Amino acid sequence: PDILDIEAIRADFPILEREFGDQQLVYLDNAATTQTPDQVIDTIADYYREMNANVHRGLHQLSQEASIAYEEAHDRVAEFIGAGGREEVIFTKNTTESMNTVAYAWGLNELGPGDEVVLTEMEHHASLVTWQQIAKRTGAEVKYIRIDEDGRLDMDHARELITDDTEMVSVVHVSNVLGTINPVEELADIAHDHDSYIFVDGAQAVPNRPVDVEAIDADFYAFSGHKMCGPTGIGVLYGKQHILEEMEPYLYGGDMITKVTFEDATWNELPWKYEAGTPIIAGGIALAEAADYLDDIGMENVERHENELAQYALDRFAEFDDIEVFGPPAGEHRGGLVSFNVEGVHAHDLSEILNDYAVAVRAGDHCTQPLHDKLGVAATARASFYIYNTKSEIDTLVEALDDARQLFA
Ligand code: PMP
Repeated sequence: PDILDIEAIRADFPILEREFGDQQLVYLDNAATTQTPDQVIDTIADYYREMNANVHRGLHQLSQEASIAYEEAHDRVAEFIGAGGREEVIFTKNTTESMNTVAYAWGLNELGPGDEVVLTEMEHHASLVTWQQIAKRTGAEVKYIRIDEDGRLDMDHARELITDDTEMVSVVHVSNVLGTINPVEELADIAHDHDSYIFVDGAQAVPNRPVDVEAIDADFYAFSGHKMCGPTGIGVLYGKQHILEEMEPYLYGGDMITKVTFEDATWNELPWKYEAGTPIIAGGIALAEAADYLDDIGMENVERHENELAQYALDRFAEFDDIEVFGPPAGEHRGGLVSFNVEGVHAHDLSEILNDYAVAVRAGDHCTQPLHDKLGVAATARASFYIYNTKSEIDTLVEALDDARQLFA
């Protein structure tokens, strides 16, 4: 029996009731964006109905209430990921902006010829393109840790690539294509042995499993609210306090300063030093509510449920000779998503046919073009699972796939 009361969870997500034609939505695109429970939707509506004001500035009651709620949201998120406190939690727009914040604030200032940035072959464009461009501008070099046939990192190669020339190791915690869970603790140890920083892209990890940034010993860690029951437009950059104190800010303007003259300025305390201008107030407060929602379910339970669904999907796909699956094989602990191709059918066509069954999956390169080049395919289809998905929805997916294959046979 499932450890989660899926029916009760589903009742929190009004969008799951939607029907297309006479078919009920089967939403399997959670790695792109998860759906939003009533609790989070209500938090946003309540904020605008009862508390809306700018933060940090006003002395009036509304502004004070909004400021306290917004600041406490940082405390809540810090607790959710095991950070030391609000000083280490910067609210950004998304994982991509978190990555760019460090690339611009730290990378542009600190990198130069002879320095190396080590990524993996399974990086999302959010990290790959960002470090690539920063390297071009600074004269640093980017190197990529190889993956093996099943999409696991080659850790011998990692130990070879990470040297005293390495200044930054930037790795995805869980691959959004392969579902591989990378040994980020071990990579952090290797990076630190060479006095390098490590940045972990946790976009596919924080929503899906318990994450403790201090246990990982990550110097930086990033994720997005919209993949964890939160709204779009809010993301997080975690950074170790002493590093954030030393680092230059990336965006300048109001709120991030303490004292400004016509000649110069000094920076506000953490984390506000990195939150220039009016922040995403409702989004931050709603993200804290999303953390509450997930903690009530229990992140261990989320992880177990997703792994179970991924294993079930892998087992069902194995019934078909012409379905190619990417990433670690069934039996191996992996993230709650499965990328696949049906022989002779382009992933885009597949996704369109599945849409006729009201089954939502992703098709394309999933912002990992170099990885797809490496895999030797232009595109893959991806089914990704969350707390409200069921095995019966995977059965619907498989039935739809079976029909699609016959259409193209
Ligand atoms: N990294 C990974 C591993 C992702 O899956 C995603 C989302 N597709 C991102 C980064 C970027 O997230 P966002 O678009 O919210 O910035």
